[in-house]
Order: sequence, then C-alpha cells, then structure tokens
Amino acid sequence: MKLFIFSIVWVLLLGFFVSADAQSTGKLKRVVIDAGHGGKDPGAHGQYSKEKDVVLAVALKLGNYIEKYLPEVEVVYTRKKDVFIPLMERAEIANKSKADLFISIHANYISNSRIRGTETFALGLHRTQENLEVAKKENSVILLEDDYSTTFEGFDPNLSESYIIFELYQNSYLDQSLEMASMVESQFGQRVGRHSRGVKQAGFLVLRETFMPGVLVELGFLSNSDEEKYLTSNEGQALLASGLFRAFKEYKQNFDEKNKLNKPIQTAEIAKNTSRIKYRIQIASSRKKIKQGTSVYRKLDDIYEYQDGNLFKYTTGESDTYSEISKILPRIREEFKDCFVIAFENDKRIPLSDARSKSGE
Ligand SMILES: [Zn+2]
Repeated sequence: MKLFIFSIVWVLLLGFFVSADAQSTGKLKRVVIDAGHGGKDPGAHGQYSKEKDVVLAVALKLGNYIEKYLPEVEVVYTRKKDVFIPLMERAEIANKSKADLFISIHANYISNSRIRGTETFALGLHRTQENLEVAKKENSVILLEDDYSTTFEGFDPNLSESYIIFELYQNSYLDQSLEMASMVESQFGQRVGRHSRGVKQAGFLVLRETFMPGVLVELGFLSNSDEEKYLTSNEGQALLASGLFRAFKEYKQNFDEKNKLNKPIQTAEIAKNTSRIKYRIQIASSRKKIKQGTSVYRKLDDIYEYQDGNLFKYTTGESDTYSEISKILPRIREEFKDCFVIAFENDKRIPLSDARSKSGE
C-alpha cells in the first residue's frame, strides 16, 4: 500500500511538471483526440453498430474541424483507424506530445433501452452507482491486454473497491477538466439539441494516466434505438463533432486569455498583451441576418457573425497571427471565392494593415 501511495504522489508530481512545461508556451497548442476502443475491442454494441466505429468517425470529424478552423492547434490522435491500442499507450501518446487537453470519445450502453442522452466525465470519485458502472465498463478494456495486472498494479476494473483510490485524484487539472466538460455538455444540450445528462465524475484509468486536463465524453446510448440511429448517421456524427469543436474553441479562448495574464510581461510585449488582435476570414455580408441552418451555415461549421453598420457580416476561422490564418485561406476559398482576411482588436474590426503592424507581421 505504501508503495502504491508513493507511486500516486509521484504520478501527481510528474503531472505537475509536465503541465507547467506545456503551459509555458502561453497558448493552447496541442490537443489529443482519443477515439475509444478499436480493433479486437469493439466497445459497446448496439443493435447493428459498434462503439469503436461511431467514436472513430466523430473523432476524425472533430480533428478535421480543428485542423480546418484553428490552424495554430496541432491535433494528435491516439488512433485514426480500426486498431487496438492498449490504454497505457493512449496515455503515453498524450503525455509524450505534451498536449494541453485530452478528449476521449465513447458511446454508452445500458440494459434499459429507454435511457438516452450525452454525459461528459472528469476524473474523480463517482458520486453515484450509475457513474461507477460507466467507469467499470470503460476500464474493463484493460482485461484484453496481456499484462494488465502488472501495468495497472493489480487494479481490478470490475471491483468496486478498486475505485476508492480515485478519491486521491482530485488533482490540479480538475477545474480545467470540469470547465471543458461543462462546455461540451452545454453545446450538446443547447446547440446540438441532444438530451444532456450533465457533467459527472468517475474513475477512468485513461484520464488517470494522462497528465493534463482531460474529459471522457459519452456521445449517447447505443442501447437506445433512436440514439443508435443518430449516432450512426453521418449528420448526427457531424453535429456531435461540431458541438465538441465549439466547446474546444471556447475552452481554448479561455485558456489563452488566462495564460496571457499569467505570463510575465516584458516591455516589448506590453503592446501585444494589452490589445487582442484576432484574424478571421470574411465569407459573406448581408443586409438581413442569415438564419442558422441556411446558406453559409450549411457550407461551414464554424461561423462567427458580427455587425458592421447596418450589415451583418460572417467570418470563419480564427487565429492570433496573420501567417496562420493565411494557411487556411485557400481551403475556404474553394467554398467562398471572394473571401478575405480581416482583423479585430478587442473584438472591434480594424484595418488589416494596422493589425499586422501591431502584431509585427
Ligand atoms: Zn467506451
């Protein structure tokens, strides 16, 4: 037991150092997207679908949105195809990449087929039996690994007693993990129109082993026939991925803001820190407000609306640097021939040349 406690303290300390290192860059630079299960591990079964396929589709779509609209963020995947990746290896991929956030994507199953809805977990001690059951089910994937007993120091995923230890894991990432979790659930509930079962905590091994803020998202229940239909449809998967994307974008904005304040201010940087320059790509303008779900909204998933005099203007993408936003311009141009880069300072439109000279580009 002593050794066990010691190793946990060590793990928490290591987590602290890794996080300090990742955050010294100031901005959210890297995200790990973890599609649960894969290969010989199908995860939950629906009537006709497998969890591993549903979550991979959503994970790839999410990564694609981030790469497309937030060019300064690097996306790291634990898997991009149907392969079995041991749980510790998933954590290693995340830890080695020194990512700022870990998003593990799953789908749920329960014997009562009427139960439906999304839920997003942060690491912690379960408060209800129901939450414990989700953790047990997801952790049981380690039983498919040859050496799981050694790797996880005798942790038995099916034994309720194993989970008491998670009380110790109220770690320094909890606040950030819960922040991301609530952004995900509010996107799912309010924007995507899913039934949100809310933010929860439980002892997921994959979150325990990743030394960064992280969430485990359950996209819905494959045991519910309506949800299975939605989760296996291209449209449903795209909507869930765009909900995750918007939550991620919001999380990144908060992260970047907070880290700006934490950074020691050097004289040359004062001007940069006090004004917030953002570059976006303008794709349309209209006298009438464009309704969501119509025209431009159908072509792109990331649309930002602002008012300029009596015109409504629509932009996509966002970056702090002109060079980064320019990278995605050709792709946007395929859909919107006349699009161009514009600049904002503290959310007010300013001339592009002013912005570029202020940000030294
Ligand atoms: Zn799962």
